[in-house]
Amino acid sequence: MTPRPRIGLGYDLHRLEPRSGTGAHEVKPLVLGGLPIEHNYGPISHSDGDVLLHALTDAILGALGDPDIGTLFPDTAAENAGRASREFLLEARRRLEAAGLAIGNVDLTLIMERPKISPYKEPICENLATLLGVERRRINLKGKTHEGVDAVGEGRAMEAHAAVLLEPAAH
Ligand SMILES: [Zn+2]
Repeated sequence: MTPRPRIGLGYDLHRLEPRSGTGAHEVKPLVLGGLPIEHNYGPISHSDGDVLLHALTDAILGALGDPDIGTLFPDTAAENAGRASREFLLEARRRLEAAGLAIGNVDLTLIMERPKISPYKEPICENLATLLGVERRRINLKGKTHEGVDAVGEGRAMEAHAAVLLEPAAH
């Protein structure tokens, strides 16, 4: 039986702290869409804190009606500490392909005050296309700021939104 198209929505947020800080939590290096980004702030996270990959993974899992990323990869599990988020996305890809589906398109919005995301847009989109095994044209990424207001605008957090359309795989 041919599967029907399915739509999914994902959201994620991580706190940001100075990498030079002496806070109670370990501050990780900034990684976005699987790529290391040079920045003096980094996420507080059990895994690598990649908001883009987390939002995208949840969008795919949501489209499938599967348990979300926090259920599949609990942050209380030692095996997920510092784990590269690409592994979460690859599991979501495995599940969508097993369901007879393929990525129609992905639309992402990244909201953070600094650094400017434009120089990283193309490499991130190419990396996401590679991880998902799809053409580059199926991936879109938009960068925005939070206009200086609230925690995101003050540079104390970053957030990402992801929408994905899954289509029946071509035979
Ligand atoms: Zn996350």
